[in-house]
Amino acid sequence: MVLSAVPVFARGRHLFFVEKAGWRVAPRHDGKVKIPEIREQVCAANQALVPADLVKLTWGNVSGMDRASGLWCIKPSGVDYADLTPADMVVLDLEGQVVEGTLRPSSDTLTHLHLYREFDRIGGITHTHSPYATSFAQACRELPCFGTTHADHFCGTVPLVRALTPEEVEAGYEHHTGVAIGECLRGLGLDPLEMPAVLQAHHAPFTFGHDAMDSVKNSIALEMCARMALHALQLTPALGSMPGHLLEKHHQRKHGPAAYYGQK
Ligand code: 13P
Repeated sequence: MVLSAVPVFARGRHLFFVEKAGWRVAPRHDGKVKIPEIREQVCAANQALVPADLVKLTWGNVSGMDRASGLWCIKPSGVDYADLTPADMVVLDLEGQVVEGTLRPSSDTLTHLHLYREFDRIGGITHTHSPYATSFAQACRELPCFGTTHADHFCGTVPLVRALTPEEVEAGYEHHTGVAIGECLRGLGLDPLEMPAVLQAHHAPFTFGHDAMDSVKNSIALEMCARMALHALQLTPALGSMPGHLLEKHHQRKHGPAAYYGQK
């Protein structure tokens, strides 16, 4: 992975300037707007973070992938959600090359890129600093399943991803964040669409989905579960996970092969 280690390079038809502080990109256009539907979906998903109360200021990013074309897009870095338009989304390929867009992509782009490359079923990724989920991440605590609200959505403990080493931070913080998330999920034998959330130690949550909005929904669910968990721990500090048979029942009735939640 050369992206984060090389300060300036040219590759294919695109010029890249990858700096420690971020990206400056000079894409070449062929005149066609790339993946217009995903651009709209990703813009709408980013904007949905605000009414869902998952972000303050510009503290979060959503991306979405079009597996058919191998292109994906992410919000530009540090732009107010209210000002975002589909045209502002930055389109990249799976080599991390910017295919279209004039704005610098999210500072977390290389994390998203690694996860799309490692898990080919992920279609959307959301990263926020939503306060309850981030409180668990900052406290370096995984999120156990304390009740059926959690079990309905997440099939057990939401894992804690280890903190990065100084060497990893130096070599490429965002890329290695993706690597650590991938290692964590694979180490636990978890599919990111079955366990669509992780908490990164000292940092914040990342959630995954079939598409951009699906990953936002998983962030909403995670935040609510973290909020209830914190309250439950305040009431009963020594609380353990809920009994496995109840967890299983609630998860399976909504997500299992014989699920009967919702409408046909
Ligand atoms: P960007 O605006 O660069 O996506 O950064 C938001 C953020 O939350 C960084 O962790």
